[in-house]
Amino acid sequence: MSANRELTPQAQEKADILVAGAGSTGLAAALAFAKSDLRIKLIGRVPPPLPGRTVALFEASIRFLDALGALERVTAIGCPIEAIRMIDDTDQLLPVPPLTLSAREIDLPALGVNISNDDLVSILHDLVTTHPNIDFVDADIVDYEFGVSNAVALLSDHRRIEADFLIAADGRNSRARAVAGIDLKEWTYPQIALTAMVRHEFAHANMSTEYHTRSGPFTLVPLPARPNAPHRSSLVWLMNTEDARRRLAAPREELEFEIEDFAKSEFGVMRLESDIGQFRMGGMQVSQHGKGRLALVGETCHVFPPIGAQGLNLSLRDVADLEDCLASVDLKNEAELARALARYDRHRHADIGFRTSGVDVLNRSLIIPYLPVDLFRGASFLAVSALSPLRRAIIREGILPHFALPRLMRDSHQTKHA
Ligand SMILES: Cc1cc2nc3c(=O)[nH]c(=O)nc-3n(C[C@H](O)[C@H](O)[C@H](O)COP(=O)(O)OP(=O)(O)OC[C@H]3O[C@@H](n4cnc5c(N)ncnc54)[C@H](O)[C@@H]3O)c2cc1C
Repeated sequence: MSANRELTPQAQEKADILVAGAGSTGLAAALAFAKSDLRIKLIGRVPPPLPGRTVALFEASIRFLDALGALERVTAIGCPIEAIRMIDDTDQLLPVPPLTLSAREIDLPALGVNISNDDLVSILHDLVTTHPNIDFVDADIVDYEFGVSNAVALLSDHRRIEADFLIAADGRNSRARAVAGIDLKEWTYPQIALTAMVRHEFAHANMSTEYHTRSGPFTLVPLPARPNAPHRSSLVWLMNTEDARRRLAAPREELEFEIEDFAKSEFGVMRLESDIGQFRMGGMQVSQHGKGRLALVGETCHVFPPIGAQGLNLSLRDVADLEDCLASVDLKNEAELARALARYDRHRHADIGFRTSGVDVLNRSLIIPYLPVDLFRGASFLAVSALSPLRRAIIREGILPHFALPRLMRDSHQTKHA
């Protein structure tokens, strides 16, 4: 493992666990592991603001945020998502009726909550910086050294921090993953996602609406009212690169009109409230999720297009699962740690593989017009619409995956706070 030979290291600081990266996943990881009275060092910079970006977090994540002590603040400023409506807008041969997946069908008040990315980071950051077991180090990591019994991070300010274990949450270009020599598979989609917050004329009724178009999903996710704006949503709009370029250069009113048009005027007149964000669509999966003294969480080990709001929900499951797998492990015991990491790797391969394939198949089935695939997609929608036991099973699996649910996601906040 490489080290920067130019460095003149200062005294080595120590921790039980070192978390690299202070995005939502890293902040959540520090809080989850600090619950077990371990000494945590979280190293990273607070991420820059993301204009117009929100995250929809579902029941398993809600339970996890509750366990971390963040739920009250998240629900106070987020908007509940009570249902998800999917509308096929591909003009395919077989007309497909809209499909609605509602929380009421599984006796929950909401499927989840939609919150601005920046607000979520700010809530988690506040909890991290006031937690007695977490030392937040505002610095970049320039390199790592992995030994048999420890991991060392070398910081931009020349400090060395040593720990029994390293949790890498340093994003899709993870330096920790590269130094550990973990292979990955990457691919691209011919799409860009434009994101923004919009105000509209008519109410969203706490319902998220996905229009499945030939360029990918166009999704409006509900946002809470503001004093001068009673009806607001966040938009995630997938399109080809040429359309993205044209729309980014278009006058604002023209774009607002196009957004209204894509939403079939169901929400009336649209007004852009935020700047427009743009994200190139691609995918990534790693060959292993843990190695020696390292575990990968969040976008260090999975990236896919924002379809079905899976990304951060999956990242929080990585963290909760890792916490579960390491719960009774002596981090100094190599054999115990290796067994726990093998278990974590098995769980993550299954969960991440399943979501990555699901999102990939849905996205490709939209953008590649091919009659048999259209018919299959249409027939699946019809079956789910018609069969309520199947629909309920899909809703449950989407918001609270039953397979190996980690302990920090098992307690229902509804019964706990009843
Ligand atoms: C348009 C869009 C919409 C989305 N909507 C949803 C949604 O509705 N629901 C959902 O669940 N997911 C959604 N996602 C996915 C979700 O936003 C991401 O999965 C999530 O933000 C990733 O968080 P992360 O902490 O893993 O990575 P990042 O946010 O990339 O954080 C990584 C952090 O590591 C830091 N870092 C990197 N290198 C170093 C270093 N050397 N030293 C120190 N720090 C370092 C970075 O500065 C950064 O702060 C969406 C994604 C997109 C693109």
